[in-house]
Amino acid sequence: MSFLGFERLHASGCQEFAELSTHSLGGCTGRLFCVAYRLSLPVISGNVYQKFYTQFVHARCTVCKTSSSIPTLCLLCGTFLCCNSECCRREGDGGQIFGEVTQHAQVCGFGTCVFLQLSNSLVHIVADGFITCWGSLYLDGHGEEEYNLSRPLHISEVRLQQLMQLMREVSFDFESRLKWKKVIMV
Ligand SMILES: [Zn+2]
Ligand SMILES: [Zn+2]
Ligand SMILES: [Zn+2]
Repeated sequence: MSFLGFERLHASGCQEFAELSTHSLGGCTGRLFCVAYRLSLPVISGNVYQKFYTQFVHARCTVCKTSSSIPTLCLLCGTFLCCNSECCRREGDGGQIFGEVTQHAQVCGFGTCVFLQLSNSLVHIVADGFITCWGSLYLDGHGEEEYNLSRPLHISEVRLQQLMQLMREVSFDFESRLKWKKVIMV
């Protein structure tokens, strides 16, 4: 592929990128990342939710330097975000208000963001101005969701596979159980 300016195409579980060669693009070098069809959720690690959660107890948003009341993680890239929060909102040209998750969706996922609310383990999806609650990747001993985190929650491999498939196929629209609402601010 070097005649196109790409030295090598790398692909692994969590990232894919093309190495740009030095000579064929007028001295440009760098990496071209492919973010669309990720094959895994590199942010999710470990088995027990409570353990996963403790990694982020002291996390702070890089924009406002605080931990908002709804601390949230982008599952595509791991960015710590302030969900539905005044601190990191921005006003658009038309006066509309964009929360940090919506802003992040534009730069991270072409308008889509799959994110985890740390305090209750729920995964939400925003896509082009609409939002839906997908559910939790972690379940209690009875195989049920538990939003108070009062019982140990373990990763559900079945759900992990379901979410990854949904993201791979970008098939959110076809999942009939998902109820979409227009985003007011997120
Ligand atoms: Zn992201
Ligand atoms: Zn923030
Ligand atoms: Zn903030």
